[in-house]
Amino acid sequence: MSHQTHQTQQPALRARAEIDLSALRANVRALRAHAPGAALMAVVKADAYGHGMVPCARAALQGGATWLGAALPQEALALREAGITAPVLCWLWTPGGPWREAVEAGVDVSVSGLWALDEAVAAARAVGRTARIQLKADSGLGRNGAQPADWPELVEAARAAEAEGAVKVTGLWSHFACADEPGHPSIAAQLDSFRHLVAYAEKEGLEPEVRHIANSPATLTLPESHFDLVRTGIAVYGVSPSPDIGTPADFGLRPVMTLAASVALVKQVPGGHGVSYGHHYVTDGETTLGLVPLGYADGIPRHASGRGPVLVGGKRRRVAGRVAMDQFVVDLGPDEPGGQRVAQGAEAVLFGPGDRGEPTAEDWAEAAGTIAYEIVTRIGKRVPRVYLNEDHEDQDREGHEAREE
Ligand SMILES: *Cc1c(COP(=O)(O)O)cnc(C)c1O
Repeated sequence: MSHQTHQTQQPALRARAEIDLSALRANVRALRAHAPGAALMAVVKADAYGHGMVPCARAALQGGATWLGAALPQEALALREAGITAPVLCWLWTPGGPWREAVEAGVDVSVSGLWALDEAVAAARAVGRTARIQLKADSGLGRNGAQPADWPELVEAARAAEAEGAVKVTGLWSHFACADEPGHPSIAAQLDSFRHLVAYAEKEGLEPEVRHIANSPATLTLPESHFDLVRTGIAVYGVSPSPDIGTPADFGLRPVMTLAASVALVKQVPGGHGVSYGHHYVTDGETTLGLVPLGYADGIPRHASGRGPVLVGGKRRRVAGRVAMDQFVVDLGPDEPGGQRVAQGAEAVLFGPGDRGEPTAEDWAEAAGTIAYEIVTRIGKRVPRVYLNEDHEDQDREGHEAREE
C-alpha cells in the first residue's frame, strides 16, 4: 500500500530501489527477540548492503540496535559526519589508515595484530585521547584476526597500552566460518576457541565491555554464541543468511528492498526473432517483448541471463537472452484473448518481499548462482534509493538519547 502511495507522490523513475525502513526497524526488533540477553550491532558496511548506510543506520537505532558495525574506517567516519553518535566498530584496517580520525571521532577500532595496536597507540598519543580498541581473534575462520598463537603477545601489549592510558580495550571478538551450516563441526570448535581466548585475556586483566562472535546465522540458530552482543547484517535487511536454514518469514523477518523499473518499450516481434546480444534467446512465435531498463551496470548479474525472474503485468517472466549493461528484455508472450496488455511504463518488479507475487533476492541469487547478500549489495549507484516509512519523530528522539560522551 505504501508502495502505491509512493508511486503517486514521486516523479516517474527509470528504476528505483524502495527501502522500507519500517520493515528494517521491525527486523531489528525481531532479531533482538532472538537474542534477548545481548545488545545488537547493526552491520551497515557496504552502504548497508546496498540499502543506503545513513538512513538504515538511523532506522536500526530506532529499532533498538545500540551499536553499528562497519568494515571500512571511511564508513564509520561517514556515520559520525551524519551526526550519528552511537558506538561504532570498524574492522578492516590497513597500515596508514585514518587511525587518528577514527580515534578523534570516538570510533571503536578493531586490532588484529601488533602493527595495528601500534597505529592505534600512536594515533591516541597524537590526538591526546584514549583509543577505544577491540581485539579480534581468529578462532578458526582463517581470515582477519590474531592467531591463537599470537594472542598472548597481543593481549600483553594491549594491557601495557591500557596502563599508559593510550587505549581502552572495549571488546574481544571473533567471526564464524560456517554459522550458516548449523551442526558444522567448525562451529563448536570456534566457540570453544573463542571462550578460551576470552578467558585468557580476562585473566590477564582486560575488562571488555562486549564479547561477541555471532553474525546473522548464529544469532538466528545458535543461542550459545550470543555472548554480550550480536553483529547482524543481512538479517537486518530481511534476507535469510541461507535458504537452507529458513526463509525470512521463518525468522519473523521481512525483506527491506524492492527493486523495480518502468518498462521502457513494448513491441510485437515475429517468431524466430533473436533477442539481445548473442541471440541466445529466439522467440518461439509471434510475441510481445518488454524492455526493462536495468543492466549489469546497475548490479543486475549477467550470470542471470536467460534465468532472472521478473514480475510484469501480474505474471512472472524470465530474462530473455543476455543481460546487457543498461537493459534486458522479457518475453511477455503472445496476446491472450481478454488478457491485460502490458504497456510502456508498466512496473517490472525484479525482487521484493514476495507477497505481491514478485520474486525475492533469494530467487535472483539462485538464478545467478550466488547468495542473496551479493544480489542486494551489488545494486549500483545509478539506481535511486527511495525511502519508505521514515520515522522522523523517532529519529529525533534517538538523536537525543544516543548522545554519549
Ligand atoms: C559482514 C560481517 C558481519 C555481518 O554478517 P551477516 O552474515 O551479514 O550477519 C559480522 N561480522 C563481520 C566481521 C562481518 O564482516
